[in-house]
Amino acid sequence: MEPDFDRKKVRQKYAQERSRRIDADRRSVGQLWREKGLRRYLEDPFTPFRERPGVREETDVAIIGAGIAGVVAGARIRAKSDLRVRLIDVAGGVGGTWYWNRYPGVMCDVESYIYMPMLEEMGYVPTRKYARGEEIRAHVESISDKYGLTDDALFHARVEESRWHEDTARWIVSTDRGDELRARYLVLAVGILNLVKLPALPGLDEFTGRSFHAARWDYDYTGGSPDDPQLSKLTDRTVALIGTGATAIQCLPPLAASARRVYVFQRTPSAIGVRNNRPTSPEFVASLKPGWQRDRIENFTAVMAGRERERDLVQDAWTADMARVTNPPRKPEWTAEQIADAAEAIDWTVMEEHRRRVTREVRDPEIAERLKPYYRYLCKRPLFHDEFLATFNDPRVTLVDCPQGVTRVTAGGVEVGAHSYDLDCIIFATGFEGEFTPLPRRAGHAIIGRGGLRLADKWADGACTLHGMMSRGFPNLFLSPAPGQQAVISVNHTHIMVTGAEHIAETITRLERAGICIADVSAAAESHWVSQVEERFFDRSDFMTACTPSRLNFEGDPSQQNPRNGSFGGGYGDFAGWKRILDAWQEAPDFPGLETEKRER
Ligand code: NDP
Repeated sequence: MEPDFDRKKVRQKYAQERSRRIDADRRSVGQLWREKGLRRYLEDPFTPFRERPGVREETDVAIIGAGIAGVVAGARIRAKSDLRVRLIDVAGGVGGTWYWNRYPGVMCDVESYIYMPMLEEMGYVPTRKYARGEEIRAHVESISDKYGLTDDALFHARVEESRWHEDTARWIVSTDRGDELRARYLVLAVGILNLVKLPALPGLDEFTGRSFHAARWDYDYTGGSPDDPQLSKLTDRTVALIGTGATAIQCLPPLAASARRVYVFQRTPSAIGVRNNRPTSPEFVASLKPGWQRDRIENFTAVMAGRERERDLVQDAWTADMARVTNPPRKPEWTAEQIADAAEAIDWTVMEEHRRRVTREVRDPEIAERLKPYYRYLCKRPLFHDEFLATFNDPRVTLVDCPQGVTRVTAGGVEVGAHSYDLDCIIFATGFEGEFTPLPRRAGHAIIGRGGLRLADKWADGACTLHGMMSRGFPNLFLSPAPGQQAVISVNHTHIMVTGAEHIAETITRLERAGICIADVSAAAESHWVSQVEERFFDRSDFMTACTPSRLNFEGDPSQQNPRNGSFGGGYGDFAGWKRILDAWQEAPDFPGLETEKRER
């Protein structure tokens, strides 16, 4: 037990801070597609729109989403077969998250050597431990180009409907560009944090200055570019940065260095750990042996799951702090209560380290106090940065602490309670709809399977899958694994996506070789998978109820948890167990759990 840890006092303080932030309006978000005045927040500032005729054709595999999951799935299919593959994306190019998020300072927060996919196949080693967004995007583009996916892709195309046609055994995928693909296989790789979130603030359309979401950064207005963080057009402008999450902490330092004045509107302080970014050394590159990336990725996953304690290849704040908190000390003779107590004490120790860091970095003790996170480490996704906190020592930067958020937008700026702030520009670093957003919503279009069954209706009470990647009634449809979808979760999202992409590519090429035309999940296999997930569901309501509201606890309403939307193995899931099942499934000769049909193609 930590000597200074006063459990009662800490709980009281956390509860008090939580109650300052509980607010029903937290869940109100602008419906960007539906509200005409808000649609401009989604426009693509990076690639000019080009008119083209609609594409109407037969293809083998249609992949919706040209982010890392879609590109890797396409690359793996192309590497194994000569199937025709079409990527479709609403963006003007490949990259997904990295296409849209080009704000100054953007980098990955999981080590690039384990986050960036297919490094060995591409013969590439990232230039820094945490690569810049442009480097990641260029890498995804290189994969897409290498496998001939870019030239065949349909960009700036929003899928409006995917409908299974039984007679021809085709998915008919139609877009808002008049495209109609008739595909034998459909892969949904629509992304995880893909829905831009804008708080539904009163007066949003009254502001006469410039406003945009950080995932659509307007370099025409700010000056600079994704490669140049000097935002030269802001020197005489006053800017509001709304939010203090992963995006805001990265773009504040370049904003502060450029703008006349920056107001940072903080609803909840983030826990900001050490990033310690550094260039890749020639010695590191020289040390890499074949198989190094898989080994490193698997080591990270094992360390995070508490399975590997001796060897930590990544050695960063995830493996130090997050792994420490998620795998607290325990003894065989301890009761559940004793284990929970030990976890709480470790959590407090880690959070105290974060709070002490704020004291060290921020000179004004009052501002420092407002920047300190008072909640448990796992209540929010932890962040890592080495410049954000010290930016508050700059007199041009003002912290506006507003636990209930910004109150309203006016013609000239924003208001928080009775205070108004005159602004030239508002930057919404307000994030995305959470990772547990159900797939039918993330997909953003109607997915209609056998007999007119809609995925949204089938999943109305929760996900129903085999392995988190197929769903009965939707033959030849593959789902990129994601949180809330009966697969597993990792802080290294690409590990899960790449594992899923490999599984999907292998399944499609094996179905082809076997001459199978239609593959659907059997009722028994699906219900077995669903019940395994439900049975192992780990109810964290007590923990989540005590947490500060965030997207991880459904903004303070954990009753929205659904056991069906859990992971394989409970909690974040059992990656090793899930992978063993996928591998064994691929080894089995006859696609266990699938009902297959051979037909003339
Ligand atoms: P987040 O959801 O993490 O942060 C959104 C921020 O906006 C929060 O500080 C939130 O406050 C605040 N906010 C929302 N509404 C209001 C309001 N009405 N008034 C004031 N503040 C408001 O989004 P991000 O875009 O920062 O990051 C999303 C996720 O994307 C990250 O968690 C991470 O998973 C990923 N990401 C990863 C990056 C990386 O790898 N480097 C970079 C960027 C993102 P509150 O905390 O109270 O909800």
